[in-house]
Amino acid sequence: MDLLIVGSGFFGLTIAERAANAGRKVTVIDRRHHIGGNAYSEAEPETGIEVHRYGAHLFHTSNPTVWEYVNRFTTFTNYVHRVYTTHKGTVFPMPVNLGTINQFFQSAYTPDQARALVREQAGEFDVKSAANFEEKGIALVGRPLFEAFFRDYTAKQWQTDPQKLSGDIISRLPVRYTYDNRYFNDTWEGLPTDGYTAWLERMADHPNIEVKLNVDYFDESQPLSRKATVGQLPVVYTGPVDRYFDYTEGALSWRTLDFEQEVLNIGDFQGTSVMNYPDMDVPYTRIHEFKHFHPERKDVYESDKTVIMREFSRFANREDEPYYPVNTPTDREGLLAYRELAKGEKDVHFGGRLGTYQYLDMHMAIGSALSLWNNTLS
Ligand code: FAD
Ligand code: UDP
Repeated sequence: MDLLIVGSGFFGLTIAERAANAGRKVTVIDRRHHIGGNAYSEAEPETGIEVHRYGAHLFHTSNPTVWEYVNRFTTFTNYVHRVYTTHKGTVFPMPVNLGTINQFFQSAYTPDQARALVREQAGEFDVKSAANFEEKGIALVGRPLFEAFFRDYTAKQWQTDPQKLSGDIISRLPVRYTYDNRYFNDTWEGLPTDGYTAWLERMADHPNIEVKLNVDYFDESQPLSRKATVGQLPVVYTGPVDRYFDYTEGALSWRTLDFEQEVLNIGDFQGTSVMNYPDMDVPYTRIHEFKHFHPERKDVYESDKTVIMREFSRFANREDEPYYPVNTPTDREGLLAYRELAKGEKDVHFGGRLGTYQYLDMHMAIGSALSLWNNTLS
């Protein structure tokens, strides 16, 4: 074995695939019973509808290198993500666009009029100098829209003072002064035609790659543990960075999600793939209805059944799946300390969302894995 990879998510599999193609023998271990990390999906047994087991995953990128790379393993449908949000009993398009603004203010503003209104309602805050989530949010959409669509959704999602959250979180969403209500701005988007798991399996399908599931890197009774491998061969580690160092610099905070899945005996529950719930009186943040991700499969999926999933957010304990890095100022200090420790680990490369404590989308995880391979490991 030339290389050990801990974690079979997109980061680990990209390194594995590149290394295997370059003639290296690679072993990938994962503590879960399946490959693919959080992008894993499977058919719901009663309906056959593809369900994204760890929350809905939409692929999008503007990076030509990543787009070319991912197309080696899968084709993509022409799905374009659009989200709606139910506020006080009325449905609005999200992200905020001219349609949202005009519906909310029951008006017919032109783009310039809407811009002027938002600027006035943003008050003292400016996008460039905004120091945190709240200031950035108000600067971007003005206080009334921020309070309707972002303040309480974010309180449910993060349970953290919005003045302690990074403004980068809200910058994930575009704000548009046109009626374009696409959720993403990227050049390319779509869903893998035959599902995420088929894509992930193709990445791992190489004679130089061995995948071992249900193996925990920190279980010293198994031969590929941290104790047995560090210093013996190069290791790519994509698990949580604080866990690797036994939490010596404190636990970094994460949000986790609880999913409540239901099979309903109706053809269509909400008419769209994702409906957000930004009000406090609804305990969940959003409902996914999976059949709408693949309208092209309508003849394959049963027409009188549907699968929905409600998403609830809370702080992660150590035994929970870590999903979103909270990234408060205290976390950032802890992360810097872990980065220093990581420099001292002989031939261990920390990568991916958990290994770098970053809110990485799939294309970013793949892109950074390609860079690690090209610039360092190869
Ligand atoms: P992961 O997929 O988390 O893989 C890490 C792997 O390491 C896991 O399989 C884990 O079991 C394994 N591991 C951890 N510790 C150990 C250990 N001790 N021993 C062995 N194995 C271990 N991205 C998008 O582009 N679009 C989206 O719509 C989108 N939606 C998302 C929704 C949710 C709820 C979440 C949480 C993420 C979403 N993402 C989305 C991000 C996407 O999941 C990540 O970019 C991608 O999964 C990153 O891959 P990774 O390899 O870094 O990490
Ligand atoms: N957000 C919000 N209201 C919405 C959608 C998003 O307040 O209707 C905020 C929330 O803080 C969320 C962030 O914007 O965490 C980023 O949204 P995105 O949809 O990208 O989150 P993800 O899909 O990663 O959960």
